[in-house]
Amino acid sequence: MTVQVCLTFDFDALSLWLARGATTPGPLSRGEFAAEAVDRILGLLERRRVKATFFVPAHTVQTYPDSCRAIVDAGHEIGLHGDRHENVSTLDYREELGINEKSIALITQLTGTRPLGHRTPSFDFSPHTVPVLEEIGITYDSSLMGSDFFPYLLRGGGTDWIGSAYEFGEPTTVVELPVSWTLDDYPHLEFYRSVDWVMPGLQDPRGMFDVFFEDVRFAHEEFEDPVVTVTLHPEVVGRGARLRALDEFIVRTMDLGAEFRRCDAVALDRLHDLTAT
Ligand SMILES: [Zn+2]
Repeated sequence: MTVQVCLTFDFDALSLWLARGATTPGPLSRGEFAAEAVDRILGLLERRRVKATFFVPAHTVQTYPDSCRAIVDAGHEIGLHGDRHENVSTLDYREELGINEKSIALITQLTGTRPLGHRTPSFDFSPHTVPVLEEIGITYDSSLMGSDFFPYLLRGGGTDWIGSAYEFGEPTTVVELPVSWTLDDYPHLEFYRSVDWVMPGLQDPRGMFDVFFEDVRFAHEEFEDPVVTVTLHPEVVGRGARLRALDEFIVRTMDLGAEFRRCDAVALDRLHDLTAT
């Protein structure tokens, strides 16, 4: 089979800045632009006949219901992405469960179907994340980096005994569609400065998509049935030159023979394969 590519968009909007405590109009306006960018992205995806997955915090569903409805009406998937873009490592079990239950209720109300997918804000897990995902019956997650092109089953908590090898936990039936910071527009393109550190970003978007394309081509040429998951953010990729570069990436990737699919479709296929033994 050919390489499959999952285009994913994290529609963080204001939530990312609220989570950082950046509540003044300047940073919030950077999040506000995401809603405008979503319209353009939906237009591009429709033109290229690509279906994608949007991971949307509950706060964004509540703040921008019309944008979220437009995503659903265009045939794209919506998955869980926290409430106010919390760092999950700061949450206890009940808090993490409650945030996901709130998100499921809002997204189910919006789409008419229960969401199958989950991505933690900032690509991390707490010790409770796997049991919470099992409790809410999620089908797949897309936050970890234990592989590049091969979905795998999430494991329960591992054990780090000092003086001996790390012991991984038992596999669950939740599929992981792995991601990578190298395939994420945020560190490549977004400029961010706080009092403590600077993320320079602002790189050439065509250069970034060249890297993405070479990963897709490598996977296509080297492996059987690989999956490449690309992470994008509307407020980052939705500006002129970057959107043009995304369009070129989609066309080149299609010319290679790749197939763009929603994460839920890929995860359901892989769940069947991974649990078929
Ligand atoms: Zn996010």
